[in-house]
Order: sequence, then C-alpha cells, then structure tokens
Amino acid sequence: MELWYTEEHTPSVRFSIKVKKQLFGGKSPFQQIDVFDSDEFGRFFTLDGLMMVTEKDEFIYHDMIVHVPMATNTGIKRVLVIGGGDGGTVRELTRYKTIEKIDMVDIDEMVVKVCRELLPFTSRKLGDPRVTLYFEDGLKFVRTVEESYDLIIVDSTDPFGPGEGLFTREFYGNCFRALSAEGILVNQHENPYYESYSASMKRAHRRIEEFFPICRVYQAHIPTYPSGHWLFGFASKKFDPIADLDAAAWNGLGLETKYYNTDIHVGSFMLPNYVKSALEIK
Ligand code: SAM
Repeated sequence: MELWYTEEHTPSVRFSIKVKKQLFGGKSPFQQIDVFDSDEFGRFFTLDGLMMVTEKDEFIYHDMIVHVPMATNTGIKRVLVIGGGDGGTVRELTRYKTIEKIDMVDIDEMVVKVCRELLPFTSRKLGDPRVTLYFEDGLKFVRTVEESYDLIIVDSTDPFGPGEGLFTREFYGNCFRALSAEGILVNQHENPYYESYSASMKRAHRRIEEFFPICRVYQAHIPTYPSGHWLFGFASKKFDPIADLDAAAWNGLGLETKYYNTDIHVGSFMLPNYVKSALEIK
C-alpha cells in the first residue's frame, strides 16, 4: 500500500509527497505534530497538517531568515528567536562567533522535544551554551521583555492557531520596543501567490510599517511551501538591507552556505511587479 502526505494549499490545489514511513504522530496542547520520512525530501515535519521543515530544502529558509540580517549588521550580539522550535534558525545563528546570546521562545515544548529526537539536522545546536530556551507564547514574552536585542527573528507558523498573535500590531510594537537603536526584525512573511496567504502578507507588512522607519520585503524559492514562492519581512530602526550590506565583512567570515550569498542578498529584494503592487511599493 502506498502512503502519501497531502497538504491543501488552497481548497482546489493540493501538494503531495510519497511517504516511506510515519515516524511520529501526536497532539500537544497547541497543535498536531507529525514527522514523516520520504525518498524525495528526506525527513519532514508538519504542524496541523502544514509543512514546516524538510531535510532537503530547509537550508533555503534558514539561510535566508538568518544570513540576510546578519550580513546587514555583522555586529549583532543579542538575538531573540520567536517560534523556530525545529532549531534550524538557531543552528545558523550559532555559526557566528560574534553572537553572545540567543534566546528562543517557542510556545510548544513538545515540538522541540520531537525535533531534538527526530530532526537532528536542524536541532543539533539547541544545546549551544549561548542558547536559552523559553516555552511561552511569544506574544506574551515580548510584552514584558527587558532585554534589548539587536535582532529579533520571527520564525512562526501561519497567522492562525497558536501563531495568530505573532502577526498583530501589539506584537510588532512590542518587538520595536525590545530592539536596540540598531535593531532589526525579520519575519516569515507568507507567500504572495495564493489569495488567502497574500492577504496575511499585506496585513503584516502594513502593520510593521506603522512602527519601523525601514521596512522591506525579500523572497526565496522554497519548493515545499505553498506556491514555492516565499517572502520574508525585513524591518529596521537604522540599517538598510542593501545600502548597509557589508559584503566584504560577511564574505570575510568564510561561512559556507548552500543558498545564501551576498549577490542573492541584494537580488532577493528585487520583487516581481505583482508583489510590489500588492505591498504598495513604488
Ligand atoms: N519554518 C516554518 C514555516 O514557516 O513553516 C516555521 C517553523 S517553526 C517549527 C514554527 C514554530 O512556531 C513552531 O514550533 C510553533 O510551536 C511556534 N509557535 C507558534 N505560535 C507561537 C507563539 N505564539 N509563540 C511562540 N512560538 C509559537
């Protein structure tokens, strides 16, 4: 018998992966967690039936969510990751010797436990001594945070279920407050192609613009996410991601990356016309 994982990208579009074996299935107080193994994408994990990470293409998402802000300001020392329970974002951050502190706040301890056990390729640096894990709602965490971070990365699920609060005006305002004067906020920004996702992308962009003087959007091709075209938001108090990119400094670090390079850094901010017009960018 053949086993297939199928995700509904819209009510009339589905995406399927042939599954070799289901490695885990369980319900936490927040969401349904599943882990599968497959020939094409290796191990992959889903939350409430939506793709989070696959062994084969996670490098694209994690390279772009981490190295774009880090190359814009190579002086970043204190980082807050909201969500990111699979550990891929933290893994990339720990490659920078200059980072002194990484706080990661995921609402769901069970996600982290399952990923530590079954997805070592993303979770293997969660034990780095600079990393502190908090199991709390990110929306509540940033309400009271007293730390001043140089970078906040919102590596969240979509804006429904537990991730809903991470797309609100209140959340973005508190992130602004929790950032230093040189602070950068990066968030996963959904896909621009399908209507239901692009509506959340537009809303998130408008809300972030209310707080941050510099507000840009960049893109990457992620095969297993709806439409394969994924956006990230880059908001900042001081740094412009292109004008302030220090390509020589980043290249001098000698980090090997499979997707990110300083040319793609600049190119990723060049958006198709339909995306510019949805975001009302001139
Ligand atoms: N790369 C992924 C994507 O865009 O599909 C995101 C992956 S990461 C696993 C998302 C994490 O966000 C999950 O572990 C989930 O538990 C966490 N999360 C969802 N809502 C949250 C909240 N309100 N506060 C903190 N973490 C949250």
